[in-house]
Amino acid sequence: MAVENLWISYGAVEALRGVNVELGAGDIVAVLGANGAGKTTLLKAISGLLKIKQGRVLLEGNDLTRYLPFELVGLGISHVPEGRRVFATLTVEENLSLGAYGVRKLPAGRETAVRRDWVFELFPILKDRRRQLAGTLSGGEQQMLAIGRGLISRPRLLLMDEPSLGLAPRIVQDIFRVIRQIHQEDRVSILLVEQNARKALAVAGYAYILETGNVPIQGEARALKDDERVKSAYLGGSGVKR
Ligand code: ATP
Repeated sequence: MAVENLWISYGAVEALRGVNVELGAGDIVAVLGANGAGKTTLLKAISGLLKIKQGRVLLEGNDLTRYLPFELVGLGISHVPEGRRVFATLTVEENLSLGAYGVRKLPAGRETAVRRDWVFELFPILKDRRRQLAGTLSGGEQQMLAIGRGLISRPRLLLMDEPSLGLAPRIVQDIFRVIRQIHQEDRVSILLVEQNARKALAVAGYAYILETGNVPIQGEARALKDDERVKSAYLGGSGVKR
């Protein structure tokens, strides 16, 4: 996947100003940055939710800006949005099924059931709560459900927006353990937006730092962990910049 010279604005606010991002098959790439840096805007633009002012988003050479968001699921892109956005009045099972909505290549039913069983292996608590309404789940469980819903369509590229935000440390550990597991077992490429820079750099191979719509720093995650600029701005104290 390649994002080329991407410009996005909300009226007068220029949220992305000529951003370039690349991600190879099977990579985990992190996008780090403070509040308002443009991270969510980047993911929304990739999944077709925003009007692109200038630039391109390519998946294996295919220009994604020509497709509607729901068509991108069929092309192998899943978006796990910030704030979970589960359907509160539907059950856990119904939320998972909706992850495959509109994906024609899947033989309805059977493939979805196989994927759902795998999601239940990743997050056993979701199996216990399968008939429970999503709105009654804890924050951590809702995050697990949002990730599971994103996995049902067997994506090749998973966009994850702040999966650890607002969760207790133990649950954060769980979420990052599962991100590694998903990557290993499903060989999916992951573009991971995070404010928890320490954890994101531990799981990613490469990372981009976004600052007010620009990428001033990028590089191998291992190298960025020791980069003085990254350490002072993003890895100081708790390792989480708020
Ligand atoms: P956060 O971690 O707080 O979600 P972010 O890095 O994801 O931050 P974005 O949400 O992409 O940042 O926002 C980038 C910029 O665009 C910010 O200045 C923000 O105020 C602005 N912005 C985002 N959404 C809108 C909108 N719907 N209308 C106007 N401005 C917006």
